[in-house]
Amino acid sequence: MASTMVPRVGQLIGSELATPGKTRPVHDPGRLDEIVAEVAVGSPDDVDRAVRRAHEAFLTWRHVTAAERVRMLLATAEALAESAGELAPQLVREHGGVLREAHTDFALGAGFVQHTASLTEEFLRPVQFDDERSFISIEKVPRGVAAAIVPWNLPVVLAMMKLAPALATGNTLVLKPSPSAPAGLALALSRMAALLPPGVLNVVQGGSDVGAALCSHPLVRKIGFTGGTETGRQVLGAAGATIKNVTLELGGNDPAIVLDDVDIAAVLDRMLTGVYTRSGQICFAVKRVYVPRAIYRRFADAFCERVDEYTVGHGLDPDTDLGPLNNEAQYNRVLALLERTRDSSARLVRLGRKLDPGNWGNGYYVLPHVVRDAEHTDPITRQEQFAPIVPLIAYEDERQALEWANDSEYGLASSVWTSDPDRGLALARHVEAGCTFLNTHSSESLDLLMPFGGMKQSGIGREFGLHGLSSYVEDHSIRHLK
Ligand code: NAD
Repeated sequence: MASTMVPRVGQLIGSELATPGKTRPVHDPGRLDEIVAEVAVGSPDDVDRAVRRAHEAFLTWRHVTAAERVRMLLATAEALAESAGELAPQLVREHGGVLREAHTDFALGAGFVQHTASLTEEFLRPVQFDDERSFISIEKVPRGVAAAIVPWNLPVVLAMMKLAPALATGNTLVLKPSPSAPAGLALALSRMAALLPPGVLNVVQGGSDVGAALCSHPLVRKIGFTGGTETGRQVLGAAGATIKNVTLELGGNDPAIVLDDVDIAAVLDRMLTGVYTRSGQICFAVKRVYVPRAIYRRFADAFCERVDEYTVGHGLDPDTDLGPLNNEAQYNRVLALLERTRDSSARLVRLGRKLDPGNWGNGYYVLPHVVRDAEHTDPITRQEQFAPIVPLIAYEDERQALEWANDSEYGLASSVWTSDPDRGLALARHVEAGCTFLNTHSSESLDLLMPFGGMKQSGIGREFGLHGLSSYVEDHSIRHLK
């Protein structure tokens, strides 16, 4: 049922959110009979208008001093943080997460902008050499219009990971939210854009046609993309035609390697946070757990016992641990995956509790599952499940665990769980992944000092801090021969 309070969200091309013309409804994944936003239906023509407007703004924005850009970015960070109270519940009703996770998304997003701003002036300072032969200045210049394309699972922070380094270094931006979480993010961005010169931050709405138009527009010089690996392949292909620089943060199938000296009781909660937060719909969630055969049964029993305490319900219900899945395609994919796993030799264990059984069929709800006695070769182990399901695989020795952990086309994050940090560190150095954490594997494991991104088909490039800033600039070397 549509209500008059439902926000109508347009596109942001130039200065303010335009009143939408043609719109489509966005449904709450936890209450499918409720419409939570009416969002503009964007088109490739809108992309062209937005990119041209961003290019026009770039010609001025690039000459604004770094100090002034930093000042404006800090103001946008404040506006973002202040909008959380109003917009976090909106986000929950679009992406299906739990309210505290949506608040974390806003807080991490605002913190990310502040941190990037704090590094900018020093980062942009030219490196110069002056001797009797010549004067050399190596300067960092913006690339031009950057495109940011984000998924629905953590829309605010993933958007800020592109927005902050792009704008701080003098690029302008056209950002496309996911059609599965388009309104809360666009409303937050419009508040930020109001504190910037017109055209510096633009938002277009739509799905793959709009994304593809952005990736092939000749005036877009940089693409910051977060999403699935298959989509990343298409983005890379489209970017190739005009040789755009790309940063791709793609899918993952993160291994957790448990060593035989692990203190199970001490680490279990942290590991489960890494598996089940956002109902497993996080790129760097723990997606397969390798456990020494000698402690397998004890570990799996303790793991299942704790997972059984989870409640599944609507993200605005304060008693909910896990919200619904985000969208119909994702829901059907996960149900099919469960069906296939049920038919395999592994033991699929359904756990947890329905909070509101009467509403269960009115949302994309799935209880948490554990796959006991899984094999490394099982499909549930080999693919990215992106769901509240995890396989536990017994291994014989550390060499085998490492071989299996690395036997994947993905290489996003990973973790080692042990009571001996030296032993953990020694093993961590051999894992093929962008990050390896010891005794942790969730958003608390990240530090803005650590470059974030994946190896192999988990992506190209790194975000966060100086690495993120570097990917939005070109080095321009100037030499005066005396
Ligand atoms: P998705 O790839 O379907 O969509 C991501 C974005 O790309 C959306 O905005 C979508 O509209 C857009 N898009 C779709 N087709 C496009 C095209 N041809 N050209 C340009 N843009 C296009 O991903 P999703 O379902 O929204 O998110 C889930 C996936 O994202 C998972 O695989 C997950 O692992 C990955 N992810 C990765 C990270 C990371 O940092 N590595 C973070 C979050 C999610």
